[in-house]
Amino acid sequence: MRSILVLLTFFHSLLAFNYDLKPVKVDATTYCFFGLPQGIDEHNNGNMVNSCFVDAGDSYLVVDSGPTYQYAQQAYTQIKKIKNLPISYVINTHIHDDHWLGNGYYQEIGAKIIGSSQFKNESILETTRMQQRVSKEAYAKTTSVFPSILIDKDTVLTIAKQEIQIIHVNKKAHSSGDLLVYIPSSKLLFAGDLVFNDRLPSLRDGDINFWIKELDYIRSLSPTHIIGGHGEIVDSSAADFTYAYLVSLKKEVQKAIDNGVTIEDAVQTITLPQYQNANMYNTMHKQNVESTYRTMEWNNE
Ligand SMILES: [Zn+2]
Repeated sequence: MRSILVLLTFFHSLLAFNYDLKPVKVDATTYCFFGLPQGIDEHNNGNMVNSCFVDAGDSYLVVDSGPTYQYAQQAYTQIKKIKNLPISYVINTHIHDDHWLGNGYYQEIGAKIIGSSQFKNESILETTRMQQRVSKEAYAKTTSVFPSILIDKDTVLTIAKQEIQIIHVNKKAHSSGDLLVYIPSSKLLFAGDLVFNDRLPSLRDGDINFWIKELDYIRSLSPTHIIGGHGEIVDSSAADFTYAYLVSLKKEVQKAIDNGVTIEDAVQTITLPQYQNANMYNTMHKQNVESTYRTMEWNNE
C-alpha cells in the first residue's frame, strides 16, 4: 500500500511544477507576483510576467492570469493565505499568451474573465507559444480559455462599491487591443505591456508612435503606482524606462530614414549603447529597430 502511495506521489510530481511564488505588497489593497526579467524558457516555465490581485472588498480582482493553469492555481493559493476571498473578475490586459493562459483555472473556480474584443480575431492554436517553450510538467492542465466578456470601449466595473476603470486603448500600441486598468480611489494603474522596466520592451506587435502617446496619457493621470506587465518598479516612475527607450529608438530610426539608410543597415548600426546592458537587449533590440523602421517608413509615405 505504502509503495503504491509513493509511486502515485512520484507520478503526480512528474505532472507538476512548483513556481515558488511570493506575493509582494504594492499598496493597501494590491499584491503582485513579479516575473523574472527573461524570455520564456523551461527553467522559468513562463514565470516572466506579472500577475496581480486587488482586494476589492468582498472579492479579488485579478489583473493578468499568468502563463499556465498551475501558475494561476499556485498564485491564488498564496494570496488566500493573506486573505481568503473569492475571485470575482480576471482582466487580461492583452492577447499575448503569457498574460492569460492561467484563465482556465480561474474559470474553473467561477471567476468572470474580461478581455479586449481583439480576442475575437484570435484563433485557438493547437500549440501555444508558451507550450512550445515550457516543460510538459509546468504546462499540464493548461488550456486556451479566452475571456467571456469582451470589451471594445472604456468600461467601468463596480465591485463592492469600488470603481474600477478599464481603459480600452483604441490604437495599436504594444499590441492591437491593450487594456489599462485604473483604480481612481488609490490612483493605481495597471499598464499591461505598455510598461516594462527591467528588460527591453517588445515592439514586434506594436506601433511605436501610439505606444509613446499612450505613455503620455498614462503620465497625465499622475498615478501613485504604475504596474507594468513586466518589471518590479511600481512607483510613479515605473514607465520612465520604456518611455526613454522608445523615444531614443524613434529618434535614431527617424534620423536613419532621413539619411537614406536602408532597413538592413539601420538594424545593424542603430545600437543605443545606453541600453546595451539592459536585460534582453541582445534578443529584442534589433527586432525593435526593424519594427520601428517599418512603422516610421509607412508614416513617411
Ligand atoms: Zn508580456
